[in-house]
Amino acid sequence: MKILILNCGSSSIKYKLIEMIGEQTLSYGLMERIGMHDGLLYHHFQKDGELKEKKMVREIPDYNTGVKLIINTLIHSDYGVVSDTSEISAVGHRVVHGGEKFASSVLINSDVRQDIRDCIELAPLHNPHNLRGIKACEMLLSGIPQVAVFDTAFHQTMPKWAYIYGLPYLLYQKYDIRRYGFHGTSHRYVSERVSALIGQPIEELKIITCHLGNGCSIAAIEKGKSVDTSMGFTPLEGLVMGTRCGNIDPTVVFHLIGREGLSLGEVVTLLNKQSGLYGISGVSNDMREILQEIKENNSRASLALEIFCYQIRKYIASYAGVLNGADVIVFTAGIGENVPLVRQKCCEKLAFMGVNIDEEKNDAAIGKESIISRQSSKVKVFCIPTNEELIIARDTKKIVQSLKGE
Ligand code: AMP
Repeated sequence: MKILILNCGSSSIKYKLIEMIGEQTLSYGLMERIGMHDGLLYHHFQKDGELKEKKMVREIPDYNTGVKLIINTLIHSDYGVVSDTSEISAVGHRVVHGGEKFASSVLINSDVRQDIRDCIELAPLHNPHNLRGIKACEMLLSGIPQVAVFDTAFHQTMPKWAYIYGLPYLLYQKYDIRRYGFHGTSHRYVSERVSALIGQPIEELKIITCHLGNGCSIAAIEKGKSVDTSMGFTPLEGLVMGTRCGNIDPTVVFHLIGREGLSLGEVVTLLNKQSGLYGISGVSNDMREILQEIKENNSRASLALEIFCYQIRKYIASYAGVLNGADVIVFTAGIGENVPLVRQKCCEKLAFMGVNIDEEKNDAAIGKESIISRQSSKVKVFCIPTNEELIIARDTKKIVQSLKGE
């Protein structure tokens, strides 16, 4: 069974075609600059046992054209990996916001599409594009089942005291204002994976997962279920991120409007796009560049790194409080998988809860599954590359098989 995974953003589409027998990636790629005359497609494909790349520049005025180009590329006689679209058994879509309606993945039908549309108010920058991808597939791959896998679904198990804000309760009832949490497929994947790696059922484990990429979030996971997470009503809450500010006193917003004369829209942009590592360092949102600047004695870059790691450490310690201790901590995503210095700084002063990092193992763990704690460490600490597409593919397969009564 071959499953196509689509992750549709505002002007980009990421895709992966997975053969579920052996969970093998046949092809993956990234389309950028949708809506422009010089749209780009970076297509990777397996041929004769080798991974090859094909880059294309095409006019991609809209989503339908984009999805059509991806499908035509996948079936192309030279750089395609299937001979016909009939070989694609199903499409799995990453959908950012499922609100309170979706606590798990679902087969897409007209009701589900409407529910995703209803969540646009909660994720205006994401859900409309996810819907565009779904619509394009319905047109171009008619009859092929499509499944929605939500970023928010994994966190729907949080107890009420973790997701209700200290606001008038009426606002939750009227406008659904509450903590939702994001990166759910990533937190789910690494928590399931770490349980498999240590050979202990997830139901017996207390896990803290740290997804540290351009967006960052932490989750407290008990018996395989999310019980708290740092992102909130939107992905702006929680940790300091690449360009997002994370937790701040809400009064700062009114101060910015009053003192800087900014409009509400400008404040939203400032908090989402001009803050975080970028805003503090003044140089970049990219951790690689921050590390380079630190080497060149840029004190603001050093401060950005200190703040970034300090916030993570505070969350880890507080989630140990939420879980009444922790058995495992996992680091994942671009920074969590690749930057030993960040992992080490995040785990400093956590000896009180039984965290003891092995420096050599930590330094060697770059982009690969590894344990980075000492044998004597009460809490096992891991680096695990995330694989959100695999979770989407597995859920899609399960739903399609149940459709067929298999
Ligand atoms: P993601 O959103 O998961 O793609 O992660 C993006 C972040 O990971 C950026 O801050 C990158 O600088 C950082 N990153 C990715 N690879 C590396 C690497 N090899 N070394 C340092 N940082 C990295």
